[in-house]
Amino acid sequence: MSDTMNDAMNDDQLLRYSRHILLQEFGVEAQQKLLASRALIIGAGGLGSPVAMYLAAAGVGSIALADGDVVDLTNLQRQVLHATRSVGRAKVESGKDTIAGLNPEIKVIALAHRLEGEALAAEIATADVVLDCSDNFATRHAINRACVQHRKPLVSGAAIRFDGQLAVFDLRSGASPCYACLFPEDGETEELRCAITGVFAPLTGMIGTAQAAEALKLLTGVGTTLAGRLMIVDALGSQWREVRLSRDPDCSVCAKHIGN
Ligand SMILES: [Zn+2]
Repeated sequence: MSDTMNDAMNDDQLLRYSRHILLQEFGVEAQQKLLASRALIIGAGGLGSPVAMYLAAAGVGSIALADGDVVDLTNLQRQVLHATRSVGRAKVESGKDTIAGLNPEIKVIALAHRLEGEALAAEIATADVVLDCSDNFATRHAINRACVQHRKPLVSGAAIRFDGQLAVFDLRSGASPCYACLFPEDGETEELRCAITGVFAPLTGMIGTAQAAEALKLLTGVGTTLAGRLMIVDALGSQWREVRLSRDPDCSVCAKHIGN
């Protein structure tokens, strides 16, 4: 049998994913790519919740989920990956159970610690797409540096108060801007935390779901991604706008990788 036959979906899979397969732009081929893919989700909170659930339901075969926190009662207003009974449990263990209920054929790698340094680089090196669902600039910059180094597509999301942002950095292309082109590492950035400022619950779903959609397109090659654009969402005024991103030729992170 050819490799194609070995990769063929069984009857249950053909049914489970039939609404994707029916899409002319998608079909069996794109679905098989998802099943063979590995996504790294950093953060199992407000953004990571819809990302993990949609990627699992949609059939991304392997999902590495990284978060060092435990579920807190204040998380449940928006972090729909977790249930009330999970308060006090590690978020990645709670998330793994939720995903198993949604789609038991997905392999979940639960990383119950904050990914840093070589562990972060190793996870990014083995991922096909990286989803930044973290909540602080130090982590965002560390993820970006590793994605630039390993040339991995990065889907970045942020949500605070009523304000959301979404960007795709398709670093498989050497011409792509990176996160640091937009927010320089030495820049003056005000760190806002949900714990202090609050966050509108469905905004995390709006941004996280859009991150999942971009990841599925990056993994399959279906459609056009948001690469090179930044989407800005004002959930209070119901306004979505986008700005073009360009590469900073003096970027401290990606400039030295030109021509690699
Ligand atoms: Zn850059």
